Amino acid sequence: MPNQKQSNDLPDADDRKEQVVMATTAPDGGGQDMHAFWHSSSHVLAHAVKNLWPDTKLAIGPAIENGFYYDFDREGGFSTEDIQAIEEEMKNIVKANYKIERFTLPRDEAITYVKAQDEPYKLEMLEALPEGEEISFYRQGGFSDLCAGPHVRYTKQIKAFKLTSVSGAYWHGDEKNKMLTRIYGISFPRKEELDAYLAMLEEAKARDHRKLGRELELFMLSDAGPGFPFMLPKGMVLKDLLVDYWKKLHDKAGYVLIQTPLILSRTLWEESGHWDHYKDNMYTVKIDDMDYAVKPMNCPGAMLVFKSKPRSYRDLPIRMGELGLVHRHEKSGTLLGMMRVRAFTQDDAHLFMTPDQMADEISGIVRLIDDLYRGFGFQFRVELSTRPENAMGAIEDWDRAEEVLKNVLDDLGAAYTINEGDGAFYGPKIDFHIRDTIGRSWQCGTVQLDFQMPQRFELEYTGPDGEKHRPIVVHRVAYGALERFMAILIEHFAGKFPFWLSPDQVRVLTISQHNTSYAQTVVSRLKDQGLRVELDARDEKIGYKIREAQLAKVPYMLVVGDKEAEEGAVSVRSRDEGNLGSLSLDAFADKARKENQSGL
Ligand SMILES: [Zn+2]
Ligand SMILES: [Zn+2]
Repeated sequence: MPNQKQSNDLPDADDRKEQVVMATTAPDGGGQDMHAFWHSSSHVLAHAVKNLWPDTKLAIGPAIENGFYYDFDREGGFSTEDIQAIEEEMKNIVKANYKIERFTLPRDEAITYVKAQDEPYKLEMLEALPEGEEISFYRQGGFSDLCAGPHVRYTKQIKAFKLTSVSGAYWHGDEKNKMLTRIYGISFPRKEELDAYLAMLEEAKARDHRKLGRELELFMLSDAGPGFPFMLPKGMVLKDLLVDYWKKLHDKAGYVLIQTPLILSRTLWEESGHWDHYKDNMYTVKIDDMDYAVKPMNCPGAMLVFKSKPRSYRDLPIRMGELGLVHRHEKSGTLLGMMRVRAFTQDDAHLFMTPDQMADEISGIVRLIDDLYRGFGFQFRVELSTRPENAMGAIEDWDRAEEVLKNVLDDLGAAYTINEGDGAFYGPKIDFHIRDTIGRSWQCGTVQLDFQMPQRFELEYTGPDGEKHRPIVVHRVAYGALERFMAILIEHFAGKFPFWLSPDQVRVLTISQHNTSYAQTVVSRLKDQGLRVELDARDEKIGYKIREAQLAKVPYMLVVGDKEAEEGAVSVRSRDEGNLGSLSLDAFADKARKENQSGL
């Protein structure tokens, strides 16, 4: 689906980009107000490095989504001991409570000043600034930095900080340039906030979907296909459950489903604009000496389906869903488990409507996405991105569309923030950011209005006036990418999926070999209830079998021995609550069936 940030973007081009940012993201609530704080922290870091090793050259040191970094040019980089020394020196700088002051210089004086500091990277940046621009610096103690600001007022405000990692980074991100050393850090005004953040990072590590995905045998990755995940049997169960749940909600909301080809001709991608603007991210193939491309997006296919017959206003709205497998070429260095892959299933939909239907349709989409997230217990927040400078289409259309989007969000009582001018050039959009149990935020759903594609594909419907009209097209995803959503769920639940979503819901464990026949009765009884049940009748100690089931995070373990077989009972152990005692098989079957249904 949609994107915004790259100027050459086409519909759907850039959502993966945003996902990267979010994949490394931590708690909400930092954002804009923390920007100056984290940027000031990066100055403290640079100040400390210059105090310790004055010959080190400074490159850039911005605030980022969560924290800050600074790039340094120093022979040999920094050792673990160096990092400790830097943290100590940073403490001194904070304690000294320097005032952080802004000053400006005319361009030529600024150049002389930076030359005297012998900072070649700063000089390069300074010389790249447009003539006539005011050149500002920030100074604290004996340290100053070419910088647009803003900053906090005193170094003492940066009470709690930690340097979190070190990595290599090319100057300007270009591998032809020199490799610099990037030091990352995080900081907060209070120590409790820093502690909570670091605990969250630890927790995130323990929940890492790559680790849990391997342990729970959900998916795998292979050098045979970098970035192309393999779904293992249990992962496939999980994926199908997500699809079933999705289909149920979409069916109720009046969607129809289509499937469009994975490979389509160059001519089509030229028509959609992807061949010119997105080709570097597409896999291409030759068939009978003609160029084709593997689809990076589902939109053009959906447009062809819309155009496959004449449409009347009476046919609208059309809500056309597609669980489309798309392929996008991502640089190998950016791949990350199932969070960032080269092949993924978008839970896509394209809605075709008359202008009058826009408010109802958008409202329906937002309610549907809300419903979908509720099933997993996710809270979310919404961002509305409005008309950018390079917008295409009439301003009145934009104004009206933005008005509709705002009204819909207001009517639904949804909490939202507005990103002025941050929409894609082809239409405004709404993003949904869900919040997981450890406070991280993930952008998943997107609702994107598109003024461009209906025009490129010359979509039409016949209005009540008998004339041809151009429909409004909305692209939207709710999960985003299914594979990534699975990764988010794995981390959100730490692998302990709720009962309805567990690939294995119940495991029956025999105490000895002669209980096997009764155990099989238990298994088939539960399978009749539509439950996913496994039998562990191996000749192993019961303690060992329980431990394994516990590690596999199976919600219920049913232990059966002679006593249970005699009584027609099962001894129930819950993954989350421990021993629940003995229940008749009927009673457990009933309880499990109800619990399974309540999840959906
Ligand atoms: Zn700065
Ligand atoms: Zn689309």
